[in-house]
Amino acid sequence: MSNTIPLVDLQAQYRQIGPEIDAAIRRVLGHTGFILGREVEEFEAAFAAFCGVAYCVGVDSGTAALHLALEACDVGPGDEVITTPFTFFATVETIVQAGAKPVLVDIDPATYNMAPSRIEDAVTPRTKAILPVHLYGQPAEMDVIMDVAKRHHLKVIEDAAQAHGALYKGKRAGSIGDISCFSFYPSKNLGAYGDAGAVVTNNAELADKVRLLRNHGRTTKYEHKTVGWGYRLDALQAAILGAKLPHLEAWNDARRAHSMRYNELLADTDLVLPYEPEHVRAIYHCYTVRSAARDGLSSFLRQKGIDVGIHYPIPMHLQPALKDVGYRAGDFPISERYSQMVLSLPMYPELTEEQVKQVSDAVHAYMDRA
Ligand SMILES: *Cc1c(COP(=O)(O)O)cnc(C)c1O
Repeated sequence: MSNTIPLVDLQAQYRQIGPEIDAAIRRVLGHTGFILGREVEEFEAAFAAFCGVAYCVGVDSGTAALHLALEACDVGPGDEVITTPFTFFATVETIVQAGAKPVLVDIDPATYNMAPSRIEDAVTPRTKAILPVHLYGQPAEMDVIMDVAKRHHLKVIEDAAQAHGALYKGKRAGSIGDISCFSFYPSKNLGAYGDAGAVVTNNAELADKVRLLRNHGRTTKYEHKTVGWGYRLDALQAAILGAKLPHLEAWNDARRAHSMRYNELLADTDLVLPYEPEHVRAIYHCYTVRSAARDGLSSFLRQKGIDVGIHYPIPMHLQPALKDVGYRAGDFPISERYSQMVLSLPMYPELTEEQVKQVSDAVHAYMDRA
């Protein structure tokens, strides 16, 4: 009887680095400076260096990072922000929270990211920013996005919540646009043990704005220059992230190795496997395949004790919460079709070769049966 295989295994990672994590937590418990402070500043410096940017501002989630990045870019009522319908809800939710209108662009059929050729058509006199998402850990086509943004004087806000360490033409995801957002949700490639996130940028003015807005717009303990939010990163999460960051490259390499192995083992099936353009280095936050038989395959795998995910089953323009944005079924046919076809297989650094083989064998067993 083979063992069950989870989609993500956070315990395996803790088994590997437990003593380092415990020491980091004990350090914070020792001084009880739980909000912002030394660990947050140290992690911000380390993560900025990792991304190859000048500034990092820690916040309490990826969603908060997106919200503050939009606010720092002065996105507000009457503005439009171009983004993708094929993403996690927070990408679009925060545009609506900022009072702006999300303008969606259907995805590229090969990469699942915003189709580069469609972006410029979506620009109007009201467009304020482009918000690409590096879905599954694969950078969006940033040269095209930066070029359109430059010609139309738009800000570029990267949603790099799934792309810690990914490369686009040698540059880190998150280091190319004006300002970028990371999530450290526990299952992300770099994950906290709770909610956490960060904004990174090379622009000192944007960094200052985000730093002010994350902490009630305060300049001193009881003086508030502007109305902000309580979006601070706490020291325990920062200490944990600081202990994990030195391992991130090796973990990303392990994910890539598993992905290449999946690619080999699944090459002769009907599945459409991930496509990685030459000029990017994806970090496989998800290993996502496509199949017309998705629903049958996913229940079969679950029966075999293999956990799978669907990222994502409902495109943004079909979300009940976003019906007032004004889109209808049929507006983004590729996203709609793919939302019925995508399936994410187990993916985490500590997967063993045997587990990858076991998942692949199960996929073959279903395909041969069907
Ligand atoms: C995880 C994620 C977010 C939100 O991050 P949280 O930390 O959960 O708030 C935003 N965008 C994308 C693409 C994500 O994957």
